[in-house]
Amino acid sequence: MATPQVAQVRRLVTEIPGPKSRALQERRERAVAAGVGSVLPVYVERAGGGIVEDIDGNSLIDFGSGIAVTNVGNADPAVVERACEQLTRFTHTCFMVTPYEGYVEVCEALDRITPGGHEKRSMLLNSGAEAVENAVKIARGATGRQAVVVFDHAYHGRTNLTMALTAKNMPYKQGFGPFAGEVYRMPMAYPFRWPTGPENCGPEAARQAIAQISAQIGAQIGAQNVAAVLIEPIQGEGGFIEPGAGFLPELAEFCRANGIVFIADEVQTGFARTGHMFACEHEGIVPDLMATAKGIAGGLPLAAVTGRAELMDAVHAGGLGGTYGGNPAACAAALAALETIESRGLVRRARAIGEVALDRLRGLAEKYDIVGDVRGRGAMLAVELVKGGGDTSPNTEALGQVVRYCHSQGLVLLTAGSYGNVIRLLPPLAIGDDLLDEGLSILEEAFAGI
Ligand SMILES: *Cc1c(COP(=O)(O)O)cnc(C)c1O
Repeated sequence: MATPQVAQVRRLVTEIPGPKSRALQERRERAVAAGVGSVLPVYVERAGGGIVEDIDGNSLIDFGSGIAVTNVGNADPAVVERACEQLTRFTHTCFMVTPYEGYVEVCEALDRITPGGHEKRSMLLNSGAEAVENAVKIARGATGRQAVVVFDHAYHGRTNLTMALTAKNMPYKQGFGPFAGEVYRMPMAYPFRWPTGPENCGPEAARQAIAQISAQIGAQIGAQNVAAVLIEPIQGEGGFIEPGAGFLPELAEFCRANGIVFIADEVQTGFARTGHMFACEHEGIVPDLMATAKGIAGGLPLAAVTGRAELMDAVHAGGLGGTYGGNPAACAAALAALETIESRGLVRRARAIGEVALDRLRGLAEKYDIVGDVRGRGAMLAVELVKGGGDTSPNTEALGQVVRYCHSQGLVLLTAGSYGNVIRLLPPLAIGDDLLDEGLSILEEAFAGI
């Protein structure tokens, strides 16, 4: 099966976006709902490695991976070959009607590679939001409790329950309520913005969260009714916030002691992205349930919940499922992607990318006082922009300038953050050193030009 080979060089032959992209954008505006946005409206022709090629013939450096999805690279040959082979045999039967081996194999792989040596089970779904919803269903079903604890700056998806779990109003929730009930939000251990300093953040935030769960929730509904604590081990859309050291282990311990299911939302952090297969491993956390999606299948839609057998198996037969969950082509792609992650040492590659990039980003922090914080692990890195001169309030204007410059130079760059002031780097782990360097240089030029 021939895969398009994409030359690994940046090349701009028109302005960005080019004339063909602009024409397509006009067509799109007459056909596609306005509420669906695009970060950079260059229309894609093909992509691979660290390059996205557009319909005008421009080759852009990819620092987005389609939001942490194409960790193994876009159209990775092994993924394409295995998915195509599956498509020629059957496209769908529905696992709930007549099952197939690929689904079982993906679950076996997830049970094997997720943290913890205990007995596990998995189930497959289509999207991250669906995985989070099902993790909450399973936690509630297994414990007979209702309340779910989430955190400031959390992002868990766009369905009704996951909107309730998500912290940020604009653009995710505004006008879309009423939201699902029994969701309780706690302060997040956000080192850069912790009042008593980053070194105190983890333990203090854990104490606050635990005290609030016990007191506030205790008074309202009884702490014995908390089904789950749900958290991203590194927050994604909220601004790539690595919780202060000690926060996650204390929360996990509190959950264990109180019969609360600890759910890790690893939808963005999973599959080698942060320099471990899963971000929980940075502090040795073993979650009871884990939601995964994005990086799982090299770009095909697939998601999963993996967790303790006694929780996963507690739900009655027929209580979990969905028509497309674990589509056979997506399963084949996932098996190839997982093999690629392991055989090409992409966990190590993520760390190497992190070392190179963090060094360069810290250089920016030394030079420019609008760089308030540089953080991240592996190939999940962020730069938080502030007003500068001792003022740490968010600097969205500078962010806009940096991003516009990078886009104009053919660097696909994303933003994040509750305050909309965080640049985030999510290069494919298949990116080469040259493109990584060049992308970082464009980012440096952007700062020099402000
Ligand atoms: C993207 C994301 C989701 C939602 O995934 P979808 O596939 O967009 O539904 C949930 N949690 C986190 C941490 C995410 O980054």
